[in-house]
Amino acid sequence: MTRAILTLNSGSSSLKLGLFTEALETMALAHVDRIGRREAAMKIRDANGADLPMPPHAPNDFNTNAAALRTALEVFRQDFPGLEVVAVGHRVVHGGKSHGAPVRLTEEIMKDLARLAAFAPLHQPHNLAGVRAAVDTFPGVPNIACFDTAFHHGHPFVADTFALPRRYYEKGLRRYGFHGLSYHYINGELERTEPALHAGRVVVAHLGSGASMCAIKGGQSMDSTMGFSAIDGLPMGTRTGQIDPGVLLYLMDEEGLDSHAISDLLYKESGLLGMSGISNDMRTLEGSDEPAAEEAISYFAYRIRREIGALSAAMGGLDGLVFCGGIGENSANIRARVCEELGWLGIEIDAGANLGHQRDISKGKVRVLVIPTNEEIVIARAAAAVLETLPA
Ligand code: ADP
Repeated sequence: MTRAILTLNSGSSSLKLGLFTEALETMALAHVDRIGRREAAMKIRDANGADLPMPPHAPNDFNTNAAALRTALEVFRQDFPGLEVVAVGHRVVHGGKSHGAPVRLTEEIMKDLARLAAFAPLHQPHNLAGVRAAVDTFPGVPNIACFDTAFHHGHPFVADTFALPRRYYEKGLRRYGFHGLSYHYINGELERTEPALHAGRVVVAHLGSGASMCAIKGGQSMDSTMGFSAIDGLPMGTRTGQIDPGVLLYLMDEEGLDSHAISDLLYKESGLLGMSGISNDMRTLEGSDEPAAEEAISYFAYRIRREIGALSAAMGGLDGLVFCGGIGENSANIRARVCEELGWLGIEIDAGANLGHQRDISKGKVRVLVIPTNEEIVIARAAAAVLETLPA
């Protein structure tokens, strides 16, 4: 019998799974992309990052998140005979005002989290669909939710509110911040490996398809570029990032866009994709000769620089900058472009170390680090900790 903890990160068109021993060693990681489309594909890697063989599968094996979960489990079961999943940890994007610490899911909590779907309509329903699929697949096995908003719960009021009438704050219209599992991981790595820096003022740039930054002072999140929704802040693969709300009023009044059209515009048609007209994928843009691709990259780097300034001001200075996420970990070009005009802040990078994707790429007084993030292990650790508290 191989007892294991499964982690699920269930998105609108992707599913990430992690399989861990109870001692929290990685057994396998799976990533299913483009769920529901003909190009849907699954990659499964073992603990060393080597590809595990995929069994032959039918096209509809990746039709839905539940089907993708079944297919991934089939592979896991082939590779780990006698697999027994003893807990399932879930990434849930929104915990609202009341859910912070990881929690075992009950029907009552699920109802509460479903109500928060209005706050995160493009993420929360898919996260909860992942929970339902796990409940059906593993009857009686505890499901534990880890919230992306949790890391930001201690924000001071000024970083938490909008300048709306107070009643909206009480109703939950707040700057929650997201990518908390990633920031939690990086914060833990800093505490473990760089205690002096961890005690100081650090900006973490999580740059993936979704992108945000977090100001962490003495290990506590002080502010983040993402706010009420996962649209705010930095431009992303297909999301606008910060936008003047006056633009939305104009689009409603003058172009007749309703909330659905605006939602599609802000979440799916903008960002790197909308600006370049080419792709939402940074690798594709970096490989393109089109001026629009270059302009999209320039805007992305410019907004990151601008926010580093703002978040440093929020903390009264800066001791460290950490890059993570697909772009942050892999694009030496973006890291160089972000840092090149930040010498005034004490940020200078070593070009060779940057090109070599070394962990420490700093040359100036501010430490600049590249740390691969690991949201899956954060979920697995939380699931294991909650499991410990449950009666055997
Ligand atoms: P998600 O938010 O979906 O988890 P990732 O963290 O995997 O996204 O990041 C995806 C982004 O990382 C894409 O824009 C991709 O082009 C970019 N990326 C991955 N590898 C590289 C690379 N070597 N150079 C530049 N960008 C990269």
